[in-house]
Amino acid sequence: MEELTCPICRTSYVRMIENDEYRTRDGFSYECAVCGPFFISRTAEINQRSGDADPRLSAWIRNQEENKRPKPELLTNSIDETIKNFRQYSVLEKQLLLLRAIERRTVYPGKEVTLNPDTDYPIAWAVNCDEFEYLLESLEQRGLVTRSAIIGSSEVKISPRGWDNLDSEAWKPTFTDQVFVAMSFDKILDAIWEEGIKSAIEKAGYKAHRIDKEEHIDRIDAKIISDIKDSLFVVADVTQQKQGVYFEAGYAMGLNRPVIWCVKKDELDKIHFDTRQYNHIVWETPESLKEQLYYRICAVIGKRT
Ligand SMILES: [Zn+2]
Repeated sequence: MEELTCPICRTSYVRMIENDEYRTRDGFSYECAVCGPFFISRTAEINQRSGDADPRLSAWIRNQEENKRPKPELLTNSIDETIKNFRQYSVLEKQLLLLRAIERRTVYPGKEVTLNPDTDYPIAWAVNCDEFEYLLESLEQRGLVTRSAIIGSSEVKISPRGWDNLDSEAWKPTFTDQVFVAMSFDKILDAIWEEGIKSAIEKAGYKAHRIDKEEHIDRIDAKIISDIKDSLFVVADVTQQKQGVYFEAGYAMGLNRPVIWCVKKDELDKIHFDTRQYNHIVWETPESLKEQLYYRICAVIGKRT
């Protein structure tokens, strides 16, 4: 029997997932150690296999999982669209992406992180394990990480200077299209999220990112902090006056990220005293929020094409 290979990176570190939510679709679900999990349509797979492997596509797919985004569905058109929007990362940006990935994997400061260059190279947008090794070596030479090689993988630890660097680079958004949304998780506001905020952000060309309710549990953890760092700006809807929303918006302001404030009209007088000075978008329906937010994003940040 022919060995199964990944249609994207062509390695054999892959398995096919059967009987998942995609079983009725015309295509296949894969779980690749290099690219991460994805679904690909039958036609898209044929197209991919007939051309050269594009390491940027592996990097993009892997970074969806890395950033806790939904599992990518690769259809012929969506692949073309994705490839068209790839940005060129500089060597320094790739080093920062790698340092951030190490930060995300660090259980507590001082704890080593294990990286496997053969399968982990896409997290740094490297084209192969050689480039990944070089980026890791650069971080080491810059004194940002220390590492000890064990056979086939690297044990890496962020150094004090590395933590300094993460702090001072924190304002540089790594993924320029991500927008962090801070709002109450009350089901009553679901339409505000779906049809109002998310839809306005997407119309302006950005990706709306909201932490899952389950992940949040009303505490601010390292994941939220790192997601705000990775976002270009923040939309904070203070309806229902949740403390977490104020904290997340304040943290973003400290990182020089623009914050767009929103509130439901009948709660306008409840806004916290210290943030009342900011020009809030006042909404009554998801549609009115969507329209106002879209224009505010275009005016303050600019539409992303
Ligand atoms: Zn792969």
